[in-house]
Amino acid sequence: MQEWCYEYLVTGNIKRDGVHDTEISPLIKMIEDSSDLSNFTKEILDCGYTGPINTDHKESILRALALHITTKCIPMLQQLRVGLEIYDLIKVMQKKPQECHDLFVIGYDEKVDSHYILSHLAPEMSPIGSIKQVKESKIMEFFQDFLLELEDTQPEDAAAGENLSVPKIMQWMTGQAHRHLLVSEREKFNIVFKFDHCCLQHMPNHTVCYPIVSACTNTITFPVVHMVDYESFKTLMQTAVTYGASFDRV
Ligand SMILES: [Zn+2]
Repeated sequence: MQEWCYEYLVTGNIKRDGVHDTEISPLIKMIEDSSDLSNFTKEILDCGYTGPINTDHKESILRALALHITTKCIPMLQQLRVGLEIYDLIKVMQKKPQECHDLFVIGYDEKVDSHYILSHLAPEMSPIGSIKQVKESKIMEFFQDFLLELEDTQPEDAAAGENLSVPKIMQWMTGQAHRHLLVSEREKFNIVFKFDHCCLQHMPNHTVCYPIVSACTNTITFPVVHMVDYESFKTLMQTAVTYGASFDRV
């Protein structure tokens, strides 16, 4: 759905710009560029314009064409609106226009958000009820809090800056910062969480470990013993993401 259609659904107002139609938009473009409109007489009349057709009236012709596009769609949109009203969804859209926007308007949903990451996690947890599993669940919670915190403290367009962001975490874990475009890819996409409880046994006397990421297999291994609280989790994550995936035991 186009932006203006969504706006119409939510507000009932018709916006004249950003209106697109597969037949009429190319015609509009040609008329804009043309100095002789007589070639387009038939098409212009078909769109319901009744005034004189010459370059002096270009503006009003173009307006009539844009109006024609919207008039074609509006009965459909009105029906859709009635349907959405049955379920009170229009009210939801009016309360949260931004949140609902991506459900209707395509092309704006490539940005990775915390929900996208969290809904594709595949943690390899220990048996339910075990002490290990309790610690692992804590880390899952830390991870979720970490993403939400990043999202909340993030200005809208900060993805390109130095600061950590949710897309950067995605990039770090999987090698790509955007969503998967194909539904089939989305369905296959998983981020595997593994939990290392034994790093101290393998190498006694070390004080810090970083999460290890293998971007080709979308796998992250968390050093559980070093992540006992949210603060230590956060610090280790920040360091690991900022300074790359080459960290191992220090
Ligand atoms: Zn360790």
